[in-house]
This record gives sequence, C-alpha cells and structure tokens, in this order.
Amino acid sequence: MSSQIRSVVNYVGGRPVETGTTFEVFDPVTGAVAAHVHEATADTVDAAVRAAREALRGPWGKLTTDERIDMVLGIADGVGKRFDEFVDAEVSDTGQAFNMAKRVNIPRGAANFRTFAHTLREHATEAFRMDTPDGLGALNFAIRRPRGVIGVISPWNAPMLLMTWKVGPALAFGNTVVVKPSEETPSTAALLAEVMNDVGVPAGAYNVVHGAGAVGEMLTTHPDVDGITFTGETVTGSRILEAVAPTLKATSMEMGGKNPGIVFADADLDNATRVLGRSIFLNAGQVCLGTERVYIHESIFDELAGRLVEHAKSLTPGFPHEDGVTLGPVVSQQQQRKILDYYQVAVDEGANVLVGGGVPSFGDERDGGYWVEPTLWTGLGHDSRTAREEIFGPCAALIPFSDEDEVVEMANDTNYGLSATIFTRDLSRALRVTQQLEAGVIWVNEWFLRDLRTAFGGAKHSGLGREGGVHGLEFYTEISNICIKI
Ligand code: NAD
Repeated sequence: MSSQIRSVVNYVGGRPVETGTTFEVFDPVTGAVAAHVHEATADTVDAAVRAAREALRGPWGKLTTDERIDMVLGIADGVGKRFDEFVDAEVSDTGQAFNMAKRVNIPRGAANFRTFAHTLREHATEAFRMDTPDGLGALNFAIRRPRGVIGVISPWNAPMLLMTWKVGPALAFGNTVVVKPSEETPSTAALLAEVMNDVGVPAGAYNVVHGAGAVGEMLTTHPDVDGITFTGETVTGSRILEAVAPTLKATSMEMGGKNPGIVFADADLDNATRVLGRSIFLNAGQVCLGTERVYIHESIFDELAGRLVEHAKSLTPGFPHEDGVTLGPVVSQQQQRKILDYYQVAVDEGANVLVGGGVPSFGDERDGGYWVEPTLWTGLGHDSRTAREEIFGPCAALIPFSDEDEVVEMANDTNYGLSATIFTRDLSRALRVTQQLEAGVIWVNEWFLRDLRTAFGGAKHSGLGREGGVHGLEFYTEISNICIKI
C-alpha cells in the first residue's frame, strides 16, 4: 500500500472543488494520516445543489431512456476500468482486507449500476378504466417521473457498496444527486466523480460534498433538494427526519440494527458455525445486517458456543494486502473506543468472556491502529444493554433458549428490525418462525445472500421505506395519475 497522503476533493458540476479547509482521514490499520479532505462549505453545498438542478433541467434530464440506460451501464464499466484504484481507496479508508474489497465491495459497487439500469423501463405502471354516469367511462393511467435532486447521505462501513446502492437507482431512474459520504471514508465517492467524467455523464448529474454531520444537515435543510436517502445510525436518522420536516422532503431511511441469530436443536452445526462466524465477524463486525445476539437451543448451547470460540480464535488479523487475512481493524478511534466501552459494559453486566474482550498487541505499527479482539460472551441476560444496544463490532452475546415461542418473543423484543437469521432443517419450523420475525430481511441457514432485485430495508426503528428492485421507485420517482374522460 502507498504511504502517500492523498488529497480528496469535492465535485461540483463535474469539477473538482478545493475549499482550503481540510480535515484528516486516518489509516485504521496504523492510525497514520492517510488523506486530507477538503471540507464543503454552505456555498459548496449550494453550488452542488444548483448544479444538480441545472443538470436535471438540462443535459441529464433530456437524455432518452435508452441513452440514460447506456450511460448508467457505462458507469459500471468505468468502475471496472479503474477497479484497482477503487480497491486501494476503499482499503485505505476502511482498513479492510484487499480480498474483501476485491470480492465484495467494489464489484457490488459496479453491480448497483447494472442492476438498476433497466428497472424503470421494465416496470409497468397501473391503468384503471372507471365507470361514469354517462356510461362512457374514463381511463386512469399512471406515469412516473424522477423525484428530482436527491441528497445521498451514506455511512463508513461499506462505503462504495452502500453509496452506489443509492446513486445507482437514483441516476437510473432519472434523478441527479449530491452525495455526502461519511467523513471517515470519503475516497471512493470522489473517485466515482472521476469515473462519471470518464464516461461522459453530463456535468452536475453527480456531485460530491465532504464533511461531517453539519454538511449533511446543509443538504437535509436545503430548500431545493427534493429527497434524502440515508443510511446510518437510527439516532442520526431521527435527527434527519426532524431536519427535513420544514422543507417537506421525501425520505428513504436505512438505519441501525441489533440482529438476532436463532439456532434450533436440529440445525446443521457445521453450517451454523460457518455462517455465524461470518455474520458476527465479517468486516470486523461492522455490517448492518450482522448478528450481535445469538439464541442457541439449550441442548446444543455448549457445543455451538465451543465451535464459535474456535472460529473466533482462528481469525487472522493482519495488514490488508497479506494473504489469508480474515480480520481487519475497525474504522476509527471513535468506533474502537465505543466497542471497548461495550466490552467493559458486558463485564460489568456479569458476562463470561469466552474469547477476546480487549485489544490485540502486534509489536509493530499496527499497535497505533484501531483494532479490537473478536469477542463472545455468555451469561448475559436478554435484557442486558450488551444484548440490546447496537455495538457494531466483532462481538456477540450467546443466549440459551428452550422453546420456539420463547425465542421468537426474545428476537422480536427490540425496537430494531433490520435482519434475522435462523438455522433449522425443519421446513415447517422455518416457515412458521420466519413469518413471525419482525425484520425486513430474514435468512434461513445462510446470511448476506442478496439479490439486488429484492426489497431491502428495516422494520421498526431500523428503517422507513424499502429500496432494491422496483421497490425504490416509490422514493426515487413521483407518480402522477392521469384521468382521461372517454
Ligand atoms: P452515522 O449515522 O453516524 O452517519 C451516517 C452518515 O450521516 C454520515 O455520512 C454522517 O456524516 C451523516 N450525518 C451524521 N449526522 C448527520 C446529521 N445531523 N444530518 C445529516 N447527516 C448526518 O452512521 P455511521 O456510524 O456512519 O454508520 C454506522 C451505522 O449505519 C450503524 O448504525 C449501522 O447499523 C448503520 N447501517 C445501516 C445499514 C442499513 O442498510 N440499514 C447499512 C449500513 C450501516
């Protein structure tokens, strides 16, 4: 990896914009400064919104559907052409292993454009013939038009994947965007602006502004932004909903979770260990869909707990470029502190620490980075803070249960409702339990398998609205009903 400190700039109307005020981004592996980022001002945000509006009225808005589809597919190809640069940028911002960026995050970034390119054209809108007193009737039919200028506010845990998950459909359905990536991980959003220029996307269709929550708030309160699509913590989402109220913006909210895994007595334990091993520890536990509380039937509790401990011990922390690395650092010092605070809370709540609970020591430059040990607890009550609050680290509470009704009740006893994963070989049980779980995304005997055409989003405090496939049309387009008297 290069040790050069990068400069990351805003993009407005297709042009790089330096603001003179910069903030630092740190390499999570070592804690060294990795980038200086030009922080957007209110003027930068305003110029970005104006550029997006002009592109909507002008060159971008005037593209035919075919031209727009070709262009969105071209963006996916453009990402592919600069694949290694995206991988480097993502690894540098997040500290994740090259393999993870290469196999998951950057390919999914490109796939997010490919998947949505054709969706609008293939989607039929409704038509109703209605009766009228004169007997001749009237015909109603619906058309969809782009919602307008969309503010995209995205988090740091899978920056490219989660940002393009929103930019892909927004552009494919004819909108223009102003993206505010997480201040921790701004690089891939800026690189994507270069790709937009490479492939000839009209200036202003895609803009990027950098900064923390205050810059996000400039977007959520801007009178000329038509919609905000957000991914991040529930508490931030709630603040954003308050901020958009005076200007009545449409919103699509993907928020936090405290996702249960449920392992029934008849589960295939090899598979449960493999899948839970990923859902607890992948990306150092910083996956919104990840499992942080595992309910295990009492008859297999000790057996599965032992296997999960072995799995945790087998994880290999390392530099991102090393082969066989299966555990990276967490994204920032703030996130490291938050996780370590929860590790202490767990102990204070009487947890039995089966594995981990601290910070690994390397004896090299990694000791300056943001590492935490993969950690598993038993002995925590279902009502403990550790088992109820989102930690977003490589850790889980293992909790025994004795019957199906009890475990469904515990799984649902939370304000969150993002995902749930169950393990059983009994099809009737799988059908019965999945229908009772209050979560937007539910897996049986697997985790993280995603078909981008399916609905994605959280129930309860984990989300408002759904994206994915045609479901995002409700947010990314406005529907007009046209009634014609015959
Ligand atoms: P966060 O809420 O701290 O920040 C998310 C984004 O919101 C960042 O770009 C941040 O700068 C911005 N922001 C912060 N305050 C703002 C404000 N007042 N107005 C406008 N923008 C503001 O979240 P995070 O720590 O970056 O990400 C981790 C969280 O994201 C976890 O809770 C995780 O569960 C959640 N997440 C959810 C999903 C999902 O699909 N539901 C996916 C990934 C992550």
